[in-house]
Amino acid sequence: MTASVWQILAGNLAVVALFVLGWSRASYWLKAIPRPYRNFLLSLTMGLGAIATMSLAIEFKPGMFFDLRYSLLAVVALFGGWPAALISSAVAAAFRFWLGGAGLMAGLAGIALASGAGVLVSLVVGNRTHKLWHVGVVALITGIVTSAGLVSLPGETFQAILPTLVPLALLNIVTTAFAGFVYLRAYRLSADRELLAAAITHAPAYVYVKDRDGNFAIANKASAALFGVADSSQLLGKSSFDIEPPDRAARTAERERAVLAGNTKVLDFEEEIIDTNGISRWYSTTKVPLHDPDGKLIGLAGVTRDVTGEKQIQQELIRSRDTLGYALAEMTGGLAMFDNGGELIFCNEQYREAFPETGALRVPGAHFRDILKAVIDTGEQQNAPTEVAAAAEWIDARFADLRRESEREILLANGRWLQIRTRPTSNGTTMVVAIDVTRFKQAEQDLHTATDELKHLVRTDALTGLLNRRAFDDAIDAEIRRTSRAGTPLSLLLVDVDLFKPYNDHYGHLAGDDALRKVSQLLKQSLKRPADVVARFGGEEFTAILPDTDEDGAYLVAESFRRALAEARLPHAASDKGYITASVGVATYMPDVVERSATDLIGTADGALYSAKAAGRDRVFGTRVSERTHLRALS
Ligand code: GH3
Ligand code: MG
Ligand code: MG
Repeated sequence: MTASVWQILAGNLAVVALFVLGWSRASYWLKAIPRPYRNFLLSLTMGLGAIATMSLAIEFKPGMFFDLRYSLLAVVALFGGWPAALISSAVAAAFRFWLGGAGLMAGLAGIALASGAGVLVSLVVGNRTHKLWHVGVVALITGIVTSAGLVSLPGETFQAILPTLVPLALLNIVTTAFAGFVYLRAYRLSADRELLAAAITHAPAYVYVKDRDGNFAIANKASAALFGVADSSQLLGKSSFDIEPPDRAARTAERERAVLAGNTKVLDFEEEIIDTNGISRWYSTTKVPLHDPDGKLIGLAGVTRDVTGEKQIQQELIRSRDTLGYALAEMTGGLAMFDNGGELIFCNEQYREAFPETGALRVPGAHFRDILKAVIDTGEQQNAPTEVAAAAEWIDARFADLRRESEREILLANGRWLQIRTRPTSNGTTMVVAIDVTRFKQAEQDLHTATDELKHLVRTDALTGLLNRRAFDDAIDAEIRRTSRAGTPLSLLLVDVDLFKPYNDHYGHLAGDDALRKVSQLLKQSLKRPADVVARFGGEEFTAILPDTDEDGAYLVAESFRRALAEARLPHAASDKGYITASVGVATYMPDVVERSATDLIGTADGALYSAKAAGRDRVFGTRVSERTHLRALS
């Protein structure tokens, strides 16, 4: 080959480079055109490129041309698939046909084989991304098959070009690889740019770039809505002053100047903006300076997010925390929270103040067991055990209370009562409420005292202090039941002051009352057993229940009372004797009587009393009730 052959080859190479590079740039500009049309244009252009290379071909035998058309056809087939291969190869084949000559068939075969190699690999690649090795394989196949296509030449012609066969194949391989590599790079670069552009355009945040003068250079779709324009392109070249109210724009510009001066970044700057509908929205903005690879400041990039929802949650949280804090601070009781290990997480001031000795210890982080130990050591709580083993047991029990619902009232050494309630929660913590119940406790005790007093009053005779009739009724019923069960005797005395009406008439009612008090005291003193019961039966009548006492015993008691009264010589001017006397009726159930009744016993005693009165007063009459002998009067 001569020097001019190399020049032609260089020209060919230049054409291939021109078309591949030109197309890769053009395909970015034409990105708005739908892919099928773009593919069609690519195929057509590469077909024309093939024609261009053929026009610069070396005609090394008449009608036989060599050029680098295959590289373009193989590459367009690889990246455009069979439709692109069909169009480009048809264009190239038409031109080759027009050129004609001895190599026509070999030329057409070469065109078909090169396109076929590209299509073959493109089918293998399918929907996946093209790799460098795909290009390599296409280049190799193209170089080999297009050289093999020369076999179709007439024998002597083939013989003549045989020495150049390998260099020509290599040339095709290298050129195809080069064209494929250039196209692949451009293809990837534009894919990256498209990805980037899509990411910015469709980002859920407001993304924008401003130049050094603070004018928008890039703004994504969302930004248009944020800054109140119909399309983000309307923002380009504008500054904050063109789109924001003057005072806000001035503040924005000031912050951006600081970013551009390189002093600072704006990180999550929060700003409330009232939109055109008067609704408040919150935005969080981050702005960083942008530098070119040489480190020169070229502008700033900003990202603004609508954080209204987060802000609302945040404000709601603060509000509810404030409310809770206020409630805890103002509530009357003490409140504490322990975690499931027994560590104090939180408590209010009232809780601390409720414990005069260990309040200072009750702080977050303190362990419940240590607090309890201090309660024992300081003697803060009355009735808390001090002996070592009992104290340990007590601490265990109180600690166990933390894990269950419990309620206790404790008495402090200072005399105050605390009600302690524990409530475990579902998350393993326990709420402890401590309320000072001293006032209630006092009221409760006062009530107990009052009730006891009332009970006493209800059963006591106001004049004599003896049991009254109601208490007597209860007592006699109880003794009837008990003694009949036990099979023991039971006696009853019925005492009636003699001639008491005349006494009242003579001395007056107050003196009468006084006399009744004295008589009642004497009766009481005459009864020696603790089980004996003395009561005022009514008026100037008294009664005494003598359990486990037979008729002789009862008679002795009655008689000793009668004598004691007579010997007391309480003056009674209206009586012949000149002093107060009384008559006593006695009734006794003997042990063998099983059927006993209070009415019956009282009636019997009353009968005896009547007999005593009839017999002249100041005496004791008795009646024994027995199963065997039935009634027997004593005198
Ligand atoms: P006797 O029993 O010996 O037959 O005569 P008596 O005068 O005691 O009989 P009577 O039952 O008729 O009178 C009872 C009197 O006792 C009537 C009332 O004036 C007086 N009396 C009853 N209860 C009280 C009282 O609580 N205080 C005073 N001062 N007198 C009372
Ligand atoms: Mg009477
Ligand atoms: Mg009387």
